[in-house]
Order: sequence, then structure tokens, then C-alpha cells
Amino acid sequence: MYNFYPGPSKIYPHVGPSMQTAFESGILAMNHRSADFMQMMEQTIGLVKVKLNVPDDYEVFFVSSATESWEIITQSFSDSFFHYYNGAFGQKWMEYAARLKSKVTGKSFEINELPSIDFANELKKEDLICLTHNETSNGSALPSLFLKTLRSTVENIIAVDATSSMAGADLPWETADIWFASVQKCFGLPAGLAVMVVSPSGIGASESLGDDRYYNSFNFMRKNFLKYQTPYTPNILGIYLLGESMKMLEPIKKVSELIDKRADSFYDFLQSIGMDLIIKNPMVRSDTVLAVGIEPNKLIEIKRLAHHHNIILGNGYGDWKNNSFRLANFPAICDEEYHTLKLFLTNNF
Ligand SMILES: *Cc1c(COP(=O)(O)O)cnc(C)c1O
Repeated sequence: MYNFYPGPSKIYPHVGPSMQTAFESGILAMNHRSADFMQMMEQTIGLVKVKLNVPDDYEVFFVSSATESWEIITQSFSDSFFHYYNGAFGQKWMEYAARLKSKVTGKSFEINELPSIDFANELKKEDLICLTHNETSNGSALPSLFLKTLRSTVENIIAVDATSSMAGADLPWETADIWFASVQKCFGLPAGLAVMVVSPSGIGASESLGDDRYYNSFNFMRKNFLKYQTPYTPNILGIYLLGESMKMLEPIKKVSELIDKRADSFYDFLQSIGMDLIIKNPMVRSDTVLAVGIEPNKLIEIKRLAHHHNIILGNGYGDWKNNSFRLANFPAICDEEYHTLKLFLTNNF
């Protein structure tokens, strides 16, 4: 099966043997307050920091999903939020936040428009800014220059949903305070775990809000993480697999170079066979999720043919459900699989 679904997506082949090792090692049956567990947590956090090039003073946390991260951020870091978004995931985050807190505002921008920091005029100084690094629903991404410019212009705490880019893109960590991603996308791991990466200022913001009411309140969670423990029994298998996978993989600089190159070449290819890219502006195109516009009846036909060839294309999402398909360009997918996809599209489109 050739799986190009942008999450859950192809799992790295080394995960199979690692699952067996996890079982045999006994770690899955360890108490999550035991020394063995704590050592495994410490090692995994260290590996994530090294392989993903996370700044030394940023801290790494494990939660259950990106959706949970939306709620944790809304509960634990501020009482006031500004969401800047151009697609379904960014909008959903804002809607989740609005259910928990009353001071939630936002602004949307066009998918082919360069994101602009003009919204800084509308910001209150207590607003936490919420951004989506890679909008999985439409295949757009925030340019690093935008993040850098925003960072040097405002003093607000900035949170970034990087669910479909972390572990595939070399993220500009210093441009934001809270980054998060679930692992069933670029990490190439089974769902049920998410990684949060938080700056000292982010930690400061959560301390001054002082929220401690929930099992997943950030402050409460951090108290546990400082001891390499978790508030509740965590996804031990997920954390173990993340650590083993990080050992196996190349540093993010190298991984992201290959991903960028493959994205460029695949975008060229798609255009060369006359396919319509949803994101026309190359400045805001994602390297990890490619979205192709297609007429609804043609979409049904190409999906049928793909199924016949054991190829899974990603469905369109939200507004794009019936007139697009998406292709994951995640690191776990090998070049040969992309080659097969190219042949399939050349012959069937
Ligand atoms: C997939 C995705 C989510 C949701 O992830 P879960 O692990 O299902 O909570 C959130 N944001 C973005 C950008 C995503 O791509």
C-alpha cells in the first residue's frame, strides 16, 4: 500500500521492530513513577531536543494530541487570544478556544496572500497570538520571514500549531514561545501522542496566569515533567517509540533539506502534467502537505483508479472536501513511493 494521506500517515518501517523491543524490554509494564520510566523520558526529551535542534532553554512536554494542546494553551497560558489563520485547522483552534474563554478574537487571511503583521494594530498586549505553521487543510505554510518579523515587532506570547511540519521542517523555534504537533504526521509514528515545545517566556506566561485546575493544566504538568514524570499514566509506548525513532533519524536540517527538495520537484511535476495547485503563490506553499485542486467528478475517478493501484490519496478537507486531494510529503515516505505516485499520475490524469 502506498499511503500519501496527510495524517495518520505512513509509519516509519523501523517502528515495527521498536514496538516488539518495547514489549520485550518490559518498559510498557513499568510504573510511570519508576526510575526506568523516568530515565526513558529524560532520554527521549534529550533526543527530541538534539535531533529537532530545539534551543537549550526551551522545554519539551508530551501530551495526547494537537487538539489537547489547543485546550492546554487556552486554559493555561492567557485569558485573551488572537488567532490569525487561513484554513480549517486554524479556525477550529479558534472555535475550541472560544468555548473555553470569552476573550477570543481573530482574523483570517486569504490562502494565496502573504501573511502580514498588519493585525498587530488590533492586538491587545495581553493577547496570546495563535498561528498555524502548516495549514494541513489547504497546503499553505507560514514563511519564516513572517514569523521573524512578527517576533521582532510584538512582545506578545506566540503559539504555533506545527502539527504537519514539526519533524519535517527545520522550525524557527526562537520566533515563537509554544510549538506543538501530534506525532501521526511528520514524525511517522502511531497516533496518540503530541509534543509541546515551550520557551522560558512561555513558561513565565503560564506561571503568571497560575492555572492549576485541570489534570492537564500546564503548570501542573510541568511540575511533573521537571521530575521526568507525567500527571497521569502517559502513552508509554508512544514516548518510547518517539525516542527510538529519534535515535534512528538524521538531524532535522538534513531531513528538511530532502523534504524541501522533493516538494519543489513534485510541485514542478504536478504543474507539468497540468494539475491545479490550490496554493498558487510559491512563497506560501507547504513543503510537507501538497494540495491539488480537481473537479469533483474527476476526483471521484482518480480516487477510484488510485485505490485500484493500492495508492491512498488524502481527501480534501473542510471547504476543499469535494474539489481537491492532498498528498503528504512526510519523511517516512520514501522516494521510490513518490516515484510510483508520479507514474500513476502521469498515466492516469
Ligand atoms: C492533524 C492536525 C490537528 C489535529 O491533530 P490531532 O492529533 O487529531 O489532535 C491539528 N492541527 C493541525 C494543523 C493538524 O494538521
